Amino acid sequence: MANSDTQRSRSLLLTALAIPLLALTSCAFAPLIPSSGDLEAYLNEIPIPGRGSYAFVPPTDAELEIWRRAVAALLEGNLSLAATRASRLDYDLLLFRDAGTAQTYFVLAERRDAGGQPLKGRGTYVYNPQGRRALHLQVPHPLYDLNTRGQGIFLFLRLRAAALAIAGTHRNANETEYSPCDGTFSDGNPYRISDVAHFDKTFFEVFHEELLRADPKLVAISIHGFSSSFPYTAIVSNGTPQDLGNSSLANRLADALDARLALHGLQAGSCNEAGFPDTLCGTTNVQGRFANGSPDICRENAPGAAIPERFLQVEQQPPLRQPSGSVSWETVLDALAEVFPQQP
Ligand SMILES: [Zn+2]
Repeated sequence: MANSDTQRSRSLLLTALAIPLLALTSCAFAPLIPSSGDLEAYLNEIPIPGRGSYAFVPPTDAELEIWRRAVAALLEGNLSLAATRASRLDYDLLLFRDAGTAQTYFVLAERRDAGGQPLKGRGTYVYNPQGRRALHLQVPHPLYDLNTRGQGIFLFLRLRAAALAIAGTHRNANETEYSPCDGTFSDGNPYRISDVAHFDKTFFEVFHEELLRADPKLVAISIHGFSSSFPYTAIVSNGTPQDLGNSSLANRLADALDARLALHGLQAGSCNEAGFPDTLCGTTNVQGRFANGSPDICRENAPGAAIPERFLQVEQQPPLRQPSGSVSWETVLDALAEVFPQQP
């Protein structure tokens, strides 16, 4: 009893000392926030506002520049600078010790309002400096591409990938605010500004650009879902319709998926194989266009695929997006693990 009272008064004293100290320093420096727990559960539980919520607030050019510098500082290991810059945009930089993988990750987490909702719907970003595969998993269409958030987190953790980005809202959160970028949504209207795969002024795009610049070997994997009568359970693309040979990463991933799907009477194809019907090839995806060197990612197709490829889009019918089953997230995990061997 006496002991715990002593501890309490000591911690009260420390708190009392810390308040004026914080008040003095909070303008200049934001702290790195130590966190621990189950990273997979934490990431899956972040609220994502839905269609018509208008929860995405597009960043200004000045905010995009601060974000770019925050991400660059993080990738350079300048953590206090990264945290301070992120803080100016209402983001916390968490140092997250994950119980499941016994690894420590950096999470750029948007702060939330009193109701627990993210302030501006700008997404969640994870970086693993000890990653064993130079892969950047991307979930641009959570909620809409059903189960892809859980799948992207699952793949990121189990592949021991370098980075993960999850969009902050449903792609049509801002339902009547159209993106100026190329492409048409299935309702016949332009894509929305809340669709991070089809609008270039987003934290999602800048995170992607800084990662690809920082590591010339990094490959972005953009995880999607579709459902149609198209007779392929998975369609892989490097973001262009260019036909390439067997050594193409897009074709190798499609082959790795196809070998596994064939056991169940299903098949996978690649937009970059000769003769494949060029549908769902991601040619207007701004992350793909950046990776492939488009001079204007919003309005111009890439001139051709970057070689070696830096971007792979994986379009999946519902069975592959199931957490478990004869065909599931594990199928995609196995295929990616085969094409991208773990570094020692
Ligand atoms: Zn999608």
